[in-house]
Amino acid sequence: MTLFLKKFKTKYNSAPFSKINLSNFKEAFEKNIELARTEIDSIVKNTEKPTFQNTIEALDFSGELLDRLSSIFFNLNSAETSDEMQKIAQEVSPLLSAFSNDIALNEALFKRVKAVYDKKDSLTLTTEEKTLLDKKFKGFSRNGALLNEEDKLILREIDAELAKLKLTFGENVLAETNTYHLHLTNESDLKGLPDGAKEMAASLAKSKELEGWVFTLDFPSYLPFVTYIENRELRKQIAIAAGKKAFQNNPYNNEDNVKRIVELRHKRARLLGYESHSHFVLEERMAQNPYNVLSFLNDLLERAKPAAYKEFAQLTAFAKELDGIDQLEKWDGAYYSEKLKQKLFSLDDELLKPYFRLENVLNGAFTIAEKLFGITFKEIFDIDKYHEDVQTFEVLDVEGNFVAVFYSDFFPRKGKRNGAWMTSFKPQYIKEGNNERPHVSIVCNFTPPTETKPSLLTFNEVTTLFHEFGHALHGMLANTTYPSLSGTSVYWDFVELPSQIMENWCYEPEALALFAKHYETGEIIPQDYIEKIKESASFLEGMATLRQLSFGILDMAYHGKTQTIEDVKAFEKQAMEGTSVYPDVAENCMSTSFSHIFQGGYSSGYYSYKWAEVLDADAFAYFLEKGIFNTEVATKFKDQVLSKGGTELPMELYKNFRGEEPKVAALLKRAGLT
Ligand SMILES: [Zn+2]
Repeated sequence: MTLFLKKFKTKYNSAPFSKINLSNFKEAFEKNIELARTEIDSIVKNTEKPTFQNTIEALDFSGELLDRLSSIFFNLNSAETSDEMQKIAQEVSPLLSAFSNDIALNEALFKRVKAVYDKKDSLTLTTEEKTLLDKKFKGFSRNGALLNEEDKLILREIDAELAKLKLTFGENVLAETNTYHLHLTNESDLKGLPDGAKEMAASLAKSKELEGWVFTLDFPSYLPFVTYIENRELRKQIAIAAGKKAFQNNPYNNEDNVKRIVELRHKRARLLGYESHSHFVLEERMAQNPYNVLSFLNDLLERAKPAAYKEFAQLTAFAKELDGIDQLEKWDGAYYSEKLKQKLFSLDDELLKPYFRLENVLNGAFTIAEKLFGITFKEIFDIDKYHEDVQTFEVLDVEGNFVAVFYSDFFPRKGKRNGAWMTSFKPQYIKEGNNERPHVSIVCNFTPPTETKPSLLTFNEVTTLFHEFGHALHGMLANTTYPSLSGTSVYWDFVELPSQIMENWCYEPEALALFAKHYETGEIIPQDYIEKIKESASFLEGMATLRQLSFGILDMAYHGKTQTIEDVKAFEKQAMEGTSVYPDVAENCMSTSFSHIFQGGYSSGYYSYKWAEVLDADAFAYFLEKGIFNTEVATKFKDQVLSKGGTELPMELYKNFRGEEPKVAALLKRAGLT
């Protein structure tokens, strides 16, 4: 059990998966938390005056073993879980949150942090040190450390109520999603639906002991329905049902929860000295304040509108020609978009997949990283892995120095959660002159190989691989002193730049020629396929942009200024005015099931989807200008963005790379909105 209490005796200090025994985790957590507590205590009890080194730096380097253990445990819990692991997670999560709460509320510790912070102007600190000091101080102050006792109590009450409300909000949406189903017994009603979706609906019916077919509001059931079902009346039925989740006269109604959440968030922000919830949130974002976010959203809205209306007219004309429809409604959008897309592009996955053998795509990503950043990937077989599907690579720089360990884990299996993500088993940092290199992993759920065929990826899977690989580069090329500022530890609206920019190479013939080769014939993907991929990627992009912006605008309407909301639907309608091409549906309400902002962590953050797109398009435009493999631009990107993590304000990093602030022009061009 001493395994987690000292340095691993493995190559590169890599995680010794083969020696890990699940039954040891609980005790390992308890011991490591204890150890981390001792480290915090020794900072607090230091008899010397608080300095940057003995307080701020010491705090950032504390809990190293606990962090290592948590990374390993929670990474495994996502990629290779079991009932036993989930049980352990349930047991250790409260221990971990109690520990981090104890730090956040540790007044003696805050006193020392504040003492250093108060004299920051007289200290000679590097930019990274200043950033760390600021971050540590805000970690306390944003949690109320500067408040008097009475206000601290109010803050705790608000936090407790908010936590409960968010939970209830989510439960209501889930209950409303689960109670509804559409039961069809007449096969002709299913006209247009692909076989796969039909089978799924049949087995769903069976599981409910019903005849025929059942559809629900769960995405895998709902989406094919509104995309393919020819019967317009039925599409309308299910779309309206989806649109009134938690907006009905029943116990699951979320209107009061929306009002109360908004009210409490503003109250909390005011208590902490901020003008609004958005001011509070955006203080730690690249966008910095609501004014910047709103002008960003509104500017883009005006620019996207002409394209959106043009597309809507085109789609309407298409629907009119096909089915004599005069006014397109919300339940027509997905259906006619898909039909029009098929007509215009006839591009299907099966046609493209033979060009995207997984091994080739991965090697393509490696080659591109080598051309750009001078790093090489070599598969190694002498470190532990947690599953036989996992591959391990040693990453070296031009001089042969060790850069990182890279793990990849591509296929679905029981015990792995859905989706794709990048994570790390060990962060990068510099301690006592040693540059500790990171261990980074990407985990996906790609089409697995069969007995007769290798793994052949859809184009969407190809861009996903490049996306996660971009996050991985951010982690692997990190070169900072402090672990909490390293790699992907950056502001939320900046973290998708390295990932999204990598996706751009998937559309460039010069890059595709490196890896998009037919797995049987070796033929490079034909040019007209590439053209079609590009065109279909920006198909109806104006309407899609308008939709994304409308959600961001609604989010900011709720959180950007202190206010009392009388009527949720009326408020929403007014806030979203002029952002939709479709007529409003009176019995529907977006806000009552807008889980991103009312349950999840996206409040005052929905804009960041588009923000990140602007960044990656603008950054890639620089490559396009100088050449997609131009090493001068790539080196700037590596030195000013990838290696810098969160050591400086993102806008400064970006300007150091690009020479100027990001502009929307490149995105508009790429999305065909000009
Ligand atoms: Zn991402």
